[in-house]
Amino acid sequence: MDNMIVILSIFSFLLGAVLASFGGVLIDRIPNKQSIVKPASHCPNCNNYLKWYDNIPILSFLVLKGKCRYCGQKIGLFYFLLEVLGGVSFLLVFLRFGINYNTIIGFGIAFLFLVIGGIDYKTHYIYDLSLIVFLVLSLISYIVPQCLNLEFNPAGLIGLAVGFLFFLLVKILARVIAKQEALGMGDVFLLGIAGLLLGWQSLILAILIASVCGAIIEVSLIALKKKNRESEIAFGPYLVLGIFIAYLYGQLIIDWYLGMVI
Ligand SMILES: [Zn+2]
Repeated sequence: MDNMIVILSIFSFLLGAVLASFGGVLIDRIPNKQSIVKPASHCPNCNNYLKWYDNIPILSFLVLKGKCRYCGQKIGLFYFLLEVLGGVSFLLVFLRFGINYNTIIGFGIAFLFLVIGGIDYKTHYIYDLSLIVFLVLSLISYIVPQCLNLEFNPAGLIGLAVGFLFFLLVKILARVIAKQEALGMGDVFLLGIAGLLLGWQSLILAILIASVCGAIIEVSLIALKKKNRESEIAFGPYLVLGIFIAYLYGQLIIDWYLGMVI
């Protein structure tokens, strides 16, 4: 049985890395309305097509030291990190849920979040289609356990209403009072659907995690002079990170916290 878990863990990591590699193609091509199957992967500088052995997630980047084999053009660290994140997130989903239908939903959510986070990072835009996919996965995750256990769980519906209305209010107030676009409509929908998936308690945790990570990383980037204060911030990557951590560990973190204070 232990061997089985090791093998499935390795398989989960590899599956995540391979799908994240495909996610990188989606992130590049969806905003430009390009086909996601043609042309095959090629170097944007010298247009040489990549051989299969130059297209292996994570490994090829390391072997080629982040450069095109033909022209030496640098390959962005972005895709390498995306593939590592894909592998790690799929591994965490498997370790959390084991052999269970939740693992399939979790893989879907992890892949979707890589694409949402990547596209928002590059374009500051969250696509409607990705929100619809998120809604479908969240509905399945919310409804199936209630059907199996024949009990009604209102936390998701409260989360959906509270998440959506609260952040809609934040968005409107920011526009009226501070005359700023604090949140895009995509962020508001993302948080509402996250409320359905997580329940209102873990939604609060997700927002806390997203805010803390966002603040630490953005301040570090400014300190390292990688960004200046005026740069626009994409919240999407931090939101999906917070939602993902709360999705996997929200209940554990909340139970642990309540155990400490009570
Ligand atoms: Zn090249």
